[in-house]
Order: sequence, then structure tokens, then C-alpha cells
Amino acid sequence: MNISDSEIVASIMKDAYLTQTTDMKEADVIFMNTCSIREHAEQRVRKRLSELRSLKKKKPGLLVGVLGCMAERLKDQLLLEEKVVDIIAGPDSYRDLPKLLDIAGEGQKAINVILSADETYADINPVRTGSNCLSAFISIMRGCENFCAYCVVPYTRGKERSRVPETILNEAKNLFKNGYREITLLGQNVNSYKWKSDNAEMDFPDLMKSIASIDSRLRVRFATSHPKDLSDKLLMTIAELPNICRSIHLPVQSGSTKILKLMNRKYSRESYMERIEAIRKYIPECSISTDIICGFSSETDEDHNDTLSLMEWAKFDYAFMFKYSERPDTLAAKKYKDNVAEEIKSQRLNDIIALQQKLSLESNKSDIGKTFEVLIEGESHKSKDFLSGRNSQNKVIIFPRKNFKAGDYVDVKVLRCTPATLIGEDV
Ligand code: SAM
Ligand code: SF4
Repeated sequence: MNISDSEIVASIMKDAYLTQTTDMKEADVIFMNTCSIREHAEQRVRKRLSELRSLKKKKPGLLVGVLGCMAERLKDQLLLEEKVVDIIAGPDSYRDLPKLLDIAGEGQKAINVILSADETYADINPVRTGSNCLSAFISIMRGCENFCAYCVVPYTRGKERSRVPETILNEAKNLFKNGYREITLLGQNVNSYKWKSDNAEMDFPDLMKSIASIDSRLRVRFATSHPKDLSDKLLMTIAELPNICRSIHLPVQSGSTKILKLMNRKYSRESYMERIEAIRKYIPECSISTDIICGFSSETDEDHNDTLSLMEWAKFDYAFMFKYSERPDTLAAKKYKDNVAEEIKSQRLNDIIALQQKLSLESNKSDIGKTFEVLIEGESHKSKDFLSGRNSQNKVIIFPRKNFKAGDYVDVKVLRCTPATLIGEDV
């Protein structure tokens, strides 16, 4: 989401006649697009800001802006704490950046952290910075109102709002015309995408269907789905259209119903399992990945074991795994104690990572002998003689280069694997 937002900012800057540089020393303006999801993310931004101090001493006119969630969360407090910062802009105020730059250019501190109920940057054509010219993100909605107890997002990114479908469709069509072959539709909870006008209505499955119908060579992915909103209609739509990728990211967070309730996730262990069964029923070849938080308030060994057993049962192909990090002003920070000791959080995270490595390897081993259609992304990092791409399940596959090139689709038979990669040859 931050990559996608930075592409929107790059477009706004381009319209204001600023050009991009990859050399920080050359820059007259440096923007840092920030994340507040865990304390660690914020600490990294603070470290980067301290590195900019010496650069600014050498180049006094340099302007530094902090954008995104950390700007929104800390507001003018950040200006007091980090003297190097000139501009603070929350996630809904990027259109205001040229004005904020003018103010800062005159030597004043500039800030806009007003959240909007309807800003979706629908008309802005993102500059695809650092893209491989094959895969692109399209943001289809912004904000979140789920208020999971641990999460800062509803406070930093504001109310949930969906983008006008025509603008999404046009962006996807243009990307395809320009050679892109894979788009990922982004939102904090894409399943609750909903657009209503006087005479029409569109939900997420309808939107995906219209995008997938642009061309069968355009792959469509999406992230993230909330388990409480993963409908059968969506699963049936994916099953029906082969170019909607067979890969669902369905964050579980915990395998314990008690903890899920405290987290305000609005589903139980059992109802999550029922959704996994539904995915397996409608799309048997689908890969499933997840997010897991360990050490949430009052999590016992038994709750932790519930998470491990659910992981074993679901056989996740991949997972993002985190230690709970208490975030100021969230429901959990106000209502519960961060009372799982750091060493226990670390131990539980190690258990979870070890189990996931085993599950990922098992999942990859079960692919040996199977043939997948691979969209080639480019050269393999490890060898010039191999190309690398992904299958519909979002697994990385490498295979001998021959005469293939980035952007081609090729059928690859898997011969061996590591926990992270499938290795094969074209058939
Ligand atoms: N909207 C997505 C959902 O609900 O599935 C998740 C978005 S969040 C940016 C990505 C992940 O960060 C979450 O799924 C959760 O696992 C993790 N996360 C969020 N808040 C956290 C916290 N306070 N401590 C640790 N991990 C956290
Ligand atoms: Fe955060 Fe929950 Fe919203 Fe995801 S659904 S962004 S975890 S509040």
C-alpha cells in the first residue's frame, strides 16, 4: 500500500514539475513514506531521519517531508521531536504537497494531517516507480473501519471508502495496453469494496470479473481479504476465471477463539476453518497465505498451541509472522495490558516461524512433478542462465533461460525445490 501511495505522490510531484532522482545527495526534497503498524517500523524511520541530519547540514536548502501513517499518528509532535523535518503530510493530503512545499521553501514548517471521507486519488495516474513494467498495484479503496484491537490503521488512514469502478478499470486497461501482465488490487479489506451510484452497484467479485475480462493474458491478484467478508460469491468468481490468480491471503492472526475475540476480529477459530474449507472446495488448487501475531495480551501457552495446531491444519503455503507490538491509542492499548513477556513472545515467534518453514517446504515438495503456467519476471538473482517468474499460486519458479524473456508465459514442470523456490524446466 505504501509503494502504491508513493507512486501517487510521484505523480503529483511530476505535475508540479519536480523530477525524481535515485541519488539522495542530488535531491532538493526528500519524502519518507512511513508505516506505524509496529513500533519497529517507526524506529527505522527515526533512524533514517537522524541519518538525514548530516545531509541537511551540508545542503541547508534541502527539504525533508514525512508522509503517511507516522505523519498522521504523531502530527506536529513529530516536528518538535525531529528538527530535520520540514513537512508533515497524512495519507489523505498528498494533493496538498505542492502547497506544503511552497510553505516549507519559505522557511516555515508545513503540515496537513486532515483525513478525508472520500479521497481515493481516483483521477491520479500513478508513476510506476521501480516497477518491473509487468506487475503493478492498483489501489481500489482506502481506510479501514474494522478496528481490530491491536491495529493503528483505522486511526491513521481513516474511514473506509471505495474508488469509482470506471477509474480502476481504465487504469487496468491502460496498464495492459502498456505491456503490464499482472495487477494486484489493493485495500485493507478488498472484500468489502462497494460502489453505489443512482442506478448501479458494484461489489468486489463484480469488479474483479470486469478487470479479469479485459484480457485473459492479464493476471489479477488482490490483497488483503478479511476472513469475515470472504464470500462464496468471490470464491465462485475466482473459480470461474482462470486469470484471477489461485492465491488468497487470509490473515488469521491467532488460532484461539478467545484471543480472536479480544482482538475484535469478528470470527472464531471454527468459522475461519470453515472459510478455508470453502476455498478448498471451490478452488482446490488455491494457495493460502496468512498473517499471524503472537504474544497478544493475555495469550497463554494453550492459546499459542491453538495457533500452531491451526497452522498445521490449514497447511498455509506462506505466512507473515509478527510479535505483538502495542500501538498507542488503539483499543488494546486502552483496554488490555501488554502482559506477555518479551522472551515468551520471541520463543513463540520462533515456534511459529519454524513450523511455517516446515509447512512451506512440504507445500513446495508437493508441487514436484506438477506443471504450472509461469509469468516470467526476469533473470534469476542467483544465475544469469536461469529466469524467474511466478505461478498463479504466487510461488517463485526458476528454470533455464533458453530463448524466453520477461513477460512471456511458459509452462514449467517442477523438478526440485527449496523452502522458498520451485526449480523446474519448460515443457
Ligand atoms: N487489513 C489487513 C487484515 O486485516 O488482514 C491487515 C493489514 S496490516 C497493515 C498487516 C498485518 O500487520 C496484520 O494482518 C497483522 O498481522 C499485523 N499487525 C497489525 N497491527 C499489529 C501490531 N500492533 N502488532 C503486530 N502486528 C500487527
Ligand atoms: Fe487493521 Fe483490522 Fe483494518 Fe486490517 S482489518 S487494517 S488489521 S483494523
